[in-house]
Amino acid sequence: MDCLFCKIVEGTIPSTKVYEDEYVYAFKDIQPQAPVHLLVIPKKHIASLNEAEPGDAELLGRVTLAAQRVAKEAGLGDSGYRVLTNVGKDSGQVVFHIHFHVLGGEKLGALNA
Ligand code: IMP
Repeated sequence: MDCLFCKIVEGTIPSTKVYEDEYVYAFKDIQPQAPVHLLVIPKKHIASLNEAEPGDAELLGRVTLAAQRVAKEAGLGDSGYRVLTNVGKDSGQVVFHIHFHVLGGEKLGALNA
């Protein structure tokens, strides 16, 4: 499958890893939109939240808790941070492997920016 983030998980495309376990991979966004900008993904290929199924519930829980973990490890636990996932063309999603952005390190702007 020709998927950028699958290749990052495989290691055929380099990334700056901040966390990895059996199910989840997290790395620095290449074009940060905030002082801290991380991406947290399941290793399993799911194109977007639209394609997630009930059987993915535990996996997505793991991804969410990994987002909490990397945010805290980046020092954002007290100041707060934003976790978001873009879904489809109106959201501006460009990589079709579900990913959760973790943004923080400054006062963040309005959601619909
Ligand atoms: P989307 O708009 O929600 O699909 O966000 C995709 C994100 O992936 C963007 O924030 C990009 O900067 C980021 N990105 C694209 N290619 C790479 C890469 O090779 N390494 C790390 N981040 C990437």
